Amino acid sequence: MFSWAPIIRCKVTLHVSLGARLRQIDEAMTVLYDSPIFGPIHSRRLGVSLGINLLPHDGKCCTFDCIYCECGFNHDFVAHDRMPSRQQVSDALRQQLQKMQQEGPQPDVLTFAGNGEPTMHPHFPEIVDDVIALRNEYFPKAKVSVLSNATQILRQPVFEALKKVDNNILKLDTVSNAYIHRLDRPVSSSYDVEKLVAKMAEFDGHCIVQTMFLNGEFEGKDISNVADEYINPWLEALTTIQPEEVMVYTIDRETPAHHLQKATHEQLDAIARRVEALGIKCQVSY
Ligand code: SF4
Repeated sequence: MFSWAPIIRCKVTLHVSLGARLRQIDEAMTVLYDSPIFGPIHSRRLGVSLGINLLPHDGKCCTFDCIYCECGFNHDFVAHDRMPSRQQVSDALRQQLQKMQQEGPQPDVLTFAGNGEPTMHPHFPEIVDDVIALRNEYFPKAKVSVLSNATQILRQPVFEALKKVDNNILKLDTVSNAYIHRLDRPVSSSYDVEKLVAKMAEFDGHCIVQTMFLNGEFEGKDISNVADEYINPWLEALTTIQPEEVMVYTIDRETPAHHLQKATHEQLDAIARRVEALGIKCQVSY
């Protein structure tokens, strides 16, 4: 009974709203989500998840431009509409939670995700407070999760807001600045992964590190990050951060960059064993 109505767009032409059925429309299929609320959907990692999308419905806004992003490359899907206001988010969420209370399903989690980076919203901290209050009112057992690329955690109000949510899920695909600029492609020249790792450690364990592993090539160069060259310094960063959990995963849908390949089960399992050897819980999504 999941209603999932993403907008599926191809790079060149169209824009259709479908149910859960995804289809290849063109060489670069991407998914945009309704705003400010989408779903519920069944998430591989989170269970029955009601999505909260603080970005515009008609495009993508992100401080990264990952070559594997299911929303496509930033320049192909520029948003023209505004981000929803704090009031719009609150009203739409209340309406959806009332509906789910009457008709089900019961959400396991309310997840900030969608068409880009949720912490870019200028009222992200206040909206976190609203969402927690609504969760307490309608589904007190549900968790509140934020899927973030961590680029905004140096902003203290964002940092403080993330401390309040149940699942503070922060992307850290590597600690190699050179590799990050090939894979995640931060849009700001001031991006500094070392500062971010140090700030993640200040959560005192209240964060979940999420890392994408993949194989293949991009622009003629190997893009794989499953070798020791990447894993060893990443494990050192985990030792510094001491997250409550690590989620390792791989690509699951069409990606805007071609020639990317999934990390294999064996590669992901071997990485997870090394994380667990540090005494950190590790969840794998294949
Ligand atoms: S951080 Fe997430 S939303 Fe942003 S480009 Fe990367 S995958 Fe896409």
